[in-house]
Amino acid sequence: MSIINLNVKPGETRTEELNIAKLHNGTDLKIPVIISRGLEDGPCMLLSAGIHGDETNGVEIVRQIIRNGFHIPQRGTVICMPVVNVFGFISQTRDFPDGRDLNRMFPGTKNGSLASRFAYSIMEEIAPHIDYCIDFHTGGAMRFNYTQVRLDIKNQETLELAKVFGTKFIIDAENRDKSFRDALTERGKKVLLFEGGKSLNLDRIVTQIGIQGAMRVMHHLNIRDFSKELSAKTYPLEKQVFVEKSSWVRAKESGMYRNKKRLGEKVVKGDVLGTISDPFGTFEIELIAPNDGYIICTNHAPIVYEGDAVVHITTKITEDF
Ligand SMILES: [Zn+2]
Repeated sequence: MSIINLNVKPGETRTEELNIAKLHNGTDLKIPVIISRGLEDGPCMLLSAGIHGDETNGVEIVRQIIRNGFHIPQRGTVICMPVVNVFGFISQTRDFPDGRDLNRMFPGTKNGSLASRFAYSIMEEIAPHIDYCIDFHTGGAMRFNYTQVRLDIKNQETLELAKVFGTKFIIDAENRDKSFRDALTERGKKVLLFEGGKSLNLDRIVTQIGIQGAMRVMHHLNIRDFSKELSAKTYPLEKQVFVEKSSWVRAKESGMYRNKKRLGEKVVKGDVLGTISDPFGTFEIELIAPNDGYIICTNHAPIVYEGDAVVHITTKITEDF
């Protein structure tokens, strides 16, 4: 198997840097790619994180998978890219150094913008080798996502894999135009997008659920037998909820925000989700649930502006599927 000009033999693990472009100070724009090949043939799984440079929790999930040796397959190949947007990671920002969102630049072009060229290289060098991808994300900024897998329901195999992954919420989210997931799906790859936690944060539970989900999927695909590891320290699986639609409850006023409900909790129409107040004790208003549903994301920002997305609630779900 030859990938990024690197010959990886059965049973071998090699690390190579995908060298893409230079920054204005001459620094090479390159990302480490860890490739592990099993002794037997089988499918190729990509575990990627950090397309958004500040989504550290995804990086931590892939890092722990590598650190524990869970990326070493018995069959097939596992490719790990723990930090795709390395420069966003250095500057702890979501975007690419040219100000673009890398996850809106796929499949990219050879002579396009810096982010577009970067996306193009990943599609040329990595994508052709893979069959499956789990792409790890977190909520943007202070928005904390309950662990969830997003997929396009039109693809039955990804739904099956999401059930195996085991997050409480499985969310039908059509591929965003020009996202990594969109570009891979166009090429026939099966992609699960994991969301959990918030930016610039590490959450132990989110990390464990991400790791164990990836192990379950690899076990299911016969890449490696994880039955021992999974029986020893599995995070308890919750009853799964399929989310067809959801919507944000927005702040009616600017002010300081306090949550009243737990993330992942089921609320009923009229429940008080939280309160917003000014700092001087003049007013305090309640944020009310507009419908029954589960809270799948909560904004942890202590201060919100009028119109800010504060609580993300499901509006159409299936509980037995
Ligand atoms: Zn993201």
